[in-house]
Amino acid sequence: MRIISANSIFTGINFLSQEMALVIDDFGLLKDIVKKTEIQSSEIEHYDGIIAPGFVNAHCHLELSHLFSQIESKTGLIEFLKQVIAKRNNFNKKEQEDAAIEADFKMWESGIVAVGDISNIDTTFKTKANSKIYYHTFIELIGLNPLHSETIFEKGLSLLKQLENYNLIGSLAAHAPFSSSKLLINKIANYNSSNNLAFSIHNQESEEETKFFAGRPSGINDLFAYLNIDINWFTPPKTSSLLSYLDVIPNKKSLLVHNTFCKEEDIIASKYKFINWCFCPGANLFIENTLPNCDLFLNHNQNWCIGTDSLASNQKLDMCFEASILLAKSPSISIESILKALTYNGAKALGIEDKFGKLIIGKNTGLNLIQHSDTQLNFIKKIA
Ligand SMILES: [Zn+2]
Repeated sequence: MRIISANSIFTGINFLSQEMALVIDDFGLLKDIVKKTEIQSSEIEHYDGIIAPGFVNAHCHLELSHLFSQIESKTGLIEFLKQVIAKRNNFNKKEQEDAAIEADFKMWESGIVAVGDISNIDTTFKTKANSKIYYHTFIELIGLNPLHSETIFEKGLSLLKQLENYNLIGSLAAHAPFSSSKLLINKIANYNSSNNLAFSIHNQESEEETKFFAGRPSGINDLFAYLNIDINWFTPPKTSSLLSYLDVIPNKKSLLVHNTFCKEEDIIASKYKFINWCFCPGANLFIENTLPNCDLFLNHNQNWCIGTDSLASNQKLDMCFEASILLAKSPSISIESILKALTYNGAKALGIEDKFGKLIIGKNTGLNLIQHSDTQLNFIKKIA
């Protein structure tokens, strides 16, 4: 049995009163939350800093870990995607698996206990099944031509079946509005809604997406030309990309990732969907050298969480690194708000808030020691 106290203890939702301590049993489970005055002070393990539940990384691509330091930074999304497509198969299966195993281990060591992870293929299923981390896998589907949506959807279901054979939990996800038809997004959303599962899509990551949907010349046209895919049939909806598919995504269980070029009118128009906005600032700096306007989302009282994205587009998979970028960009973000984004909000977005993201009596949801100064959040160590 351990009695743990710290300068402050964050539950995942708010701070506990400073007189409280955590009782952890011999199996590492949270047994009770008690007043320190009820315990002999010699029995208390005290830590200098903030103790919080394990981090929930809401967006990652473990299967791109082998592309660490392989992709040129700050070239924009279109060049980035071209480089990933050209390079991701230059490595054999073992190299890909070894990179995923190392990235998974480092995430665990940096206090991450649960991940929302994108898979296009099955290379990381074994790693995820053997991991100490809980994974919710998003099987990601790509296809702008609505004529192909049924075939792509069926392939997605069959990959999801393979995932389930590893006893892993997953759902379907669309890649992005410029690469997934509205019909396909609708099919995915309906499947997830009817199974009460989380939905995910990369949203408004680049200005090129905005131009493409407005019918202006865009790098996305170049990308399709590079891939030899004819999109002459495509009629731009002349709205923002988000507004073009908003009506078909699920209420409450939709995770929209990046949102770097999301405008205030998009946020206002989408309020009725209770979207979970996921920010991946490290990847935004790496790919587009820009950041989302977090203050806009905060001003509109939106749910937001944090993801690391992949090692193809980031120097590390480290939640405090991501949080520190956001704090430096938006100093008005409170410490409570950023800690909630690192823990409970991510868990809620993935639909796992009964297992992770907050202190739960009878469970081990991870305990991290963090220190905070100005705009820096530093992970110190895992306590449990
Ligand atoms: Zn991503």
